[in-house]
Amino acid sequence: MMLSCKEATRLVSMGQDRSLGFAERAMLRVHLAICRGCGNAARQLEFLRRAMARLAEQDGTAER
Ligand SMILES: [Zn+2]
Repeated sequence: MMLSCKEATRLVSMGQDRSLGFAERAMLRVHLAICRGCGNAARQLEFLRRAMARLAEQDGTAER
């Protein structure tokens, strides 16, 4: 049950919405552990997501 990098990337971006099932999440973790490229991509996506969320929060408070 190996994911391809393409599938792993898709699951990472889907995972931003927390829509992954347990099996998908487990397969993704395995892939990220063994695949440096996808591990880095996942970290960058997570970093970007948090940065965007923080920006959105700041914008919201600034406008109120
Ligand atoms: Zn990969």
